[in-house]
Amino acid sequence: MWVRGCARRCPGCIAAPILDDGPALDLLADELVALVLATADEGVTFSGGEPFEQAAALVHAAVALRDAGRSVMVYTGNTLPELRAHPEPAVARLLAATDILVDGPFELAHQADLLWRGSSNQRIHLLSSRYPGASGPVDLPGVGVEVRVDDTGHLFWAGVPPAGFVAGLRQAAQERGIRLADSNGVWA
Ligand code: SF4
Repeated sequence: MWVRGCARRCPGCIAAPILDDGPALDLLADELVALVLATADEGVTFSGGEPFEQAAALVHAAVALRDAGRSVMVYTGNTLPELRAHPEPAVARLLAATDILVDGPFELAHQADLLWRGSSNQRIHLLSSRYPGASGPVDLPGVGVEVRVDDTGHLFWAGVPPAGFVAGLRQAAQERGIRLADSNGVWA
């Protein structure tokens, strides 16, 4: 789940088209929960944008999904100590409902192909005991990007892409006579 809005403007941020506030797709928390329960067996990943700028809304969904047996992973441009010191109660509640936190902003100067991360300053924090096996392989390289096209012609991608991925995808599609159009603030 990509959420819109992030006050930071990190050079090279892959989410640059969705850093401005304002909903492209306005979902109630209950609708978000229903969507995840209908489409994901394992859980949800909140990235952005900055999920903690919408902590009060997302914590409702995160708690409901955890209660339903799903896991919650969150990307944030803040560090874990910054979040733990944050005065807003919803931030602490969202942290408490998070199984895996990937913290720190993307830093172009430290770009790297690492598991679940785009730059080496980012850290993986296991905030629950749900994935004990994940504590070992955090220095593994990235697992690539998953690209899917559904039967309506919509293209989706997920993962932490290498530098130039979106531009390369556009060019490769163009060379094959395929035009990729933005939709709902999501881009391809
Ligand atoms: S904190 Fe993350 S989402 Fe926000 S601008 Fe930086 S890299 Fe992008």
